[in-house]
Amino acid sequence: MKVLYACTEVFPLLKTGGLGDVGAALPPALRDAGCDVRVLLPGFPAIRAGVNPSTLAQAAPLALPAGYGPQLGMLGSAQPPALHPATLPGSGLAAYVLDVPALFDRPGNPYEDVHDDNGIRFALLGWAAACLGNGLDPHWQPDVLHCHDWQTGLAPLYLRQMAMPGPPPAASVFTVHNLAYQGIFPPALFARLGLPDYLFGIAGIEFWGQVSFMKAGLQAADRITTVSPTYAHEILEPEQGCGLDGLLRARSAVISGILNGVDYEVWSPARDGMLARPYDLDSLEHKRRAKADLQRRTGLQADPDAMVFGVVSRLTEQKGLHLVEAVADELVSMGGQLAVLGTGDPPLEQAFLRAAARHAGRIAVDIGYNEPLAHAIMGGADVILVPSRFEPCGLTQLYGLRYGTLPLVHRVGGLVDTVVDATAQNLESGRATGFMFDDEFSPQGLRVALRRCFELHARPHEWAQVQRTAMQQRFDWREAASQYATLYRSLKPHAD
Ligand code: ADP
Repeated sequence: MKVLYACTEVFPLLKTGGLGDVGAALPPALRDAGCDVRVLLPGFPAIRAGVNPSTLAQAAPLALPAGYGPQLGMLGSAQPPALHPATLPGSGLAAYVLDVPALFDRPGNPYEDVHDDNGIRFALLGWAAACLGNGLDPHWQPDVLHCHDWQTGLAPLYLRQMAMPGPPPAASVFTVHNLAYQGIFPPALFARLGLPDYLFGIAGIEFWGQVSFMKAGLQAADRITTVSPTYAHEILEPEQGCGLDGLLRARSAVISGILNGVDYEVWSPARDGMLARPYDLDSLEHKRRAKADLQRRTGLQADPDAMVFGVVSRLTEQKGLHLVEAVADELVSMGGQLAVLGTGDPPLEQAFLRAAARHAGRIAVDIGYNEPLAHAIMGGADVILVPSRFEPCGLTQLYGLRYGTLPLVHRVGGLVDTVVDATAQNLESGRATGFMFDDEFSPQGLRVALRRCFELHARPHEWAQVQRTAMQQRFDWREAASQYATLYRSLKPHAD
């Protein structure tokens, strides 16, 4: 089964969120599940600098066919876009890098629309994926094109259009990592996409008068997946459907949820090189050392008994962290400490910084992206806070479980699929792994859950039992990869 995995992030080369973690871990897991996987990536500076030369026998650059697909204007004639074969470090997987410096060779956030050309940039990525799906590489014809989020949303549509009449050589799978980011562009873009006019309509990729790349993927892909089973149901309803729930309900027969996994090589307290003293189930007492280290490096008071709450997150509306900020004073007055690492909405950043200034030594806030500190928080905190308004899967609660850092989550999306609330019944049966609030998405809801954390923490024996149960959970990429492989086989039963 040959699978082209088209995405925009792969850790450690480039990561803005969970997409980068998935892009690093899922392709090798698919290979281990028996698939022949290649990865398509845009030539952002970090990607070009991070990949190794190709080890394939046939490693010549592949020029994209001219005259079709997105119209690049001057850019196209000056520099025909090409795919450069490469190898990913670590996994050693073969990759194609879409090398168009004028579009991708830019510093900063890869999705920032600095030159107002994101529409064309990511249309070209979709086009490149579709060309590969349609036989561009004479030495490697994928059976399945697996696309991820709006950045690759046009790929399934281009693939279908190119091959008309008749089915395209590759089938397509479109995975939604976050429906809220849709790749919406002004209507004028449509004329440059090289698609027939009738597709700019409600049955095509028009969305309230604009062009939606997410809608393209949802309309045209043979199968749609989300990154957790609960989220697959939630997006069928208006509340979480982001205006696309009608289309999703119409396509519900081809939608399923496959839970993300964790790369336990990277996220495991037993072999975490970023912790001064690794620990595991049988040496949980060393977690105290991780807590002391965290307190020291963030300027929190050295206090082994203070319950430390951690946040590692994008600071956006989605993540529900305004609730944490709203209860921060109370959390401190209950004897807790708070360590926040994140970057995002400036007002929320400022609000957290003000809270830190009010409670020096009790609240520490680091605005930025910091991989070592993320590990230090995961190891050193007692509780990881994930109060998301909506959560397609969520990875930090999974890391928290493995580190015995109990997740406190809102009952939504992938958080429902991965955390077992410490109710009296679940404590009794030994299933509890964390805390959940669902009564209301408000500071009050979170406040009640916080109190439950303090109450359980005051019963160290029970707390340790929940930690042990949490640390024993496994969310393996092997399992996810095997489910994706089954999905691919349902589309291409005769592929080798
Ligand atoms: P999302 O993809 O919606 O941002 P996930 O929970 O799926 O959320 O994945 C977030 C990933 O990004 C995790 O690996 C988390 O550790 C990481 N992360 C988020 N913010 C930061 C930060 N400020 N510094 C370091 N890592 C971060």
